[in-house]
Amino acid sequence: MLTKRLKADKEGIEQAAKILKKGGIVAIPTETVYGLAASAYDENAVKKVFSAKGRPQDNPLIVHIADIDSLNTIAKDIPDSAYKAAKRFWPGPFTMILKRTEKIPASVSAGLDTVAVRMPSDETAREIIKLSVPLAAPSANTSGKPSPTKAQYVIDDLDGKIDAVVISGVCEVGVESTVITLVTNPPRLLRPGAVTAEELREVFPDIVVDGAVLAEPKKGEKVFSPGMKYKHYAPKTETYLVEGNSEQFVQFVNSKENAAAVCFDDEEGKITLPKLCYGTAVDEATLAHSVFSVLRKADDLGVESIFVHAPSKSGVGLAVYNRLIRAAAFRVIKL
Ligand code: AMP
Ligand code: MG
Repeated sequence: MLTKRLKADKEGIEQAAKILKKGGIVAIPTETVYGLAASAYDENAVKKVFSAKGRPQDNPLIVHIADIDSLNTIAKDIPDSAYKAAKRFWPGPFTMILKRTEKIPASVSAGLDTVAVRMPSDETAREIIKLSVPLAAPSANTSGKPSPTKAQYVIDDLDGKIDAVVISGVCEVGVESTVITLVTNPPRLLRPGAVTAEELREVFPDIVVDGAVLAEPKKGEKVFSPGMKYKHYAPKTETYLVEGNSEQFVQFVNSKENAAAVCFDDEEGKITLPKLCYGTAVDEATLAHSVFSVLRKADDLGVESIFVHAPSKSGVGLAVYNRLIRAAAFRVIKL
């Protein structure tokens, strides 16, 4: 299949919408990461998304909408708190899990009776949805690889497997949306993102952070978010997440051989190994912005192991930590 390159202009947006309405699959920019979109109403199109990505059949997709009125077509028994959260966090990097309506095919939700819904803030994404239909869209990467924050990464993974890619800039946020479920009581944070746990508590004072956010789900344990049980975002090179202060980290990595470091910007000059910097520790949003692109580049360093300096777990740092611990297959070194 020839994958069309579309621009994020009026013509490109119209073309993308047309392909999607006809049952095709198109990678689109969003503020979090690029998404691989299909009509959320078209079972056959949704199946193509799973197969292009090689996504496990039991990992559900997020439905993207452009206006709040679409919400009750997709979800039912919507609690008042969902509208309150929508008012506060939409459009933006925030996904809610609610009860699914019959209008949404079961395959979107991997057979669950729930559905994940989000309204992106990216203008191009919203225009495409407005001109077509609500879009079921997971990240536009090959399953297991780091999520794509640039169109080029989508092309690297999916060229020839999808109908088109809408080429826009680098995704502003850089990590996928915050996911919460409102189907449980109390509500649960399943995946941290740029809408932080601290912000969520202002709307949901009793929200609990699911155990799978920071640890590997145990065998047989109930998994609320199927996506969290997979090894994810991983470079091919063996990766370790290292906790400690700057001095400890620098000393630790400098004692290693055939290794590389993923470090904070102000550590660059002190590290004698090959290294990639991913932002400043005090501004976790910079780390979120670069984390996936650094993980994609890590294999090019040609070393045996990669040591990543762990961010703090507060604010957006929790989202970055959550992605890195999976990239590292839960190998954490505490200095
Ligand atoms: P992605 O779009 O690739 O970031 O993946 C979507 C994430 O949302 C995965 O971690 C899914 O497990 C999660 N998700 C989507 N729908 C549901 C649902 N109905 N229940 C629980 N988790 C969901
Ligand atoms: Mg994904």
